[in-house]
Amino acid sequence: MSTLLVKHAHLLTMDDHQTELADGGLFIRRGLIEEVGPMSELPTTADEVLDLTGHVLLPGLVNTHHHFYQTLTRAVPAAQDANLFHWLKTLYPIWARLRPEDIFISTSTALAELALSGCTTAADHLYLYPNGSRLDDEIAAASEIGLRIHASRGSMSLGESKGGLPPDSVVDDEDTILKDSQRLIEKYHDASPGSMLQIVLAPCSPFSVTGELMKESAKLAREYGVHLHTHLAETEDEEQFCLQKFGHRPVGYMQEVDWVGDDVWFAHAVWVNDEEIQVFAKHNCGVAHCPTSNMRLASGIAPVKQYRQAGVNVGLGVDGSASNDGSHLLAEVRNAMLLARVKEGITGYSLSNDPNRKLMTACEALYLGTRGGAAVLGRKDIGSLENGKCADFFAVNLNRIEYAGMHDPVSAVVFGQPIRVDYTVVNGKFIVKEGQLVTVDEQKVIERHNKAAKRLLS
Ligand SMILES: [Zn+2]
Repeated sequence: MSTLLVKHAHLLTMDDHQTELADGGLFIRRGLIEEVGPMSELPTTADEVLDLTGHVLLPGLVNTHHHFYQTLTRAVPAAQDANLFHWLKTLYPIWARLRPEDIFISTSTALAELALSGCTTAADHLYLYPNGSRLDDEIAAASEIGLRIHASRGSMSLGESKGGLPPDSVVDDEDTILKDSQRLIEKYHDASPGSMLQIVLAPCSPFSVTGELMKESAKLAREYGVHLHTHLAETEDEEQFCLQKFGHRPVGYMQEVDWVGDDVWFAHAVWVNDEEIQVFAKHNCGVAHCPTSNMRLASGIAPVKQYRQAGVNVGLGVDGSASNDGSHLLAEVRNAMLLARVKEGITGYSLSNDPNRKLMTACEALYLGTRGGAAVLGRKDIGSLENGKCADFFAVNLNRIEYAGMHDPVSAVVFGQPIRVDYTVVNGKFIVKEGQLVTVDEQKVIERHNKAAKRLLS
């Protein structure tokens, strides 16, 4: 199929004018949007035609932080009510039992769940490689399901014996990490427009990696022009750890190891002060905001409004899935809006007479989930429905109980309960059609996944 006409949708393009069309559509040729506009201006036919009367159509959501493998360890009883460090300590020994086939099946599960929630591009952070596991296992599963991915070659090298948090059994030596990083970049990284796969280098966090590996990873990434990603300033105890071990707060430590620039994005970035927000703005560092994970682990509330005011790119991430415990990106959009309002509430919103003090809107939350995420990943070819961009979108049928009585079609999908989307299209190809996954067998994925999850904890 070379052309696809999507017609009669209520769509939000998420272009610079936030154009909304009550009866609009897309004309797609070979994976790219050739035309977007009101029905009267579009071609009347194509090789395939999709009538979306009664549906809302939005740009595909972009997930900027995840650990697909953690879908195997959701709601583990001993880790349900713990803070970050205790949660990690409980789960590390279980993750040490992962095998290559577990990486594959957990990727299928996470991406299936993401696709069913409107996600079309996902960044993943795989930072442990026990028992012969490789990033290749994740890449193979992603290519089967058909979402765009930014696959991070994560790493951990600072084990307990050297003052790090993870047990020595899940850390690797730095030579091996760097050699494998280089192999993956050379084998897979595609930076061209419309790329389905990019490699990212991603030492895990200040408390699991040495400063030397941070520096060497940055050097290698910049030689090849790939992006850098890590967890940063997620919790208050990380701040204490950095002050004690490195003599810097987390952001200062990043500056010290050459980890600032428009090729760097940080997950969480909750515990930052005004000065540090300016550091991100000055150097164009991006932030992956993960509201559900931050609530689940009681980590705190990221200063999203302040980031946006300072001009910092902010995207959304589902994180986890052992700290979420889901991979529903549309739910993350909703939680980003709601959590931003909680922050307003606890900082005196109801007493404020400042008319410029605004609450995060549904559209702004959707912006974070689309264009914000695209900017964080350094992509100009996704994030909005505009001529020449990738044909990545999702659509939701409004004729369902969750949306009964809604007076604003676009806001309905953010204010309303998160639902399973009806269509998800990546590169002009259907991943979800009429609410069903079409590239993988959902029931088989569930069965294989549950079997692997059971084995890990047995
Ligand atoms: Zn994470």
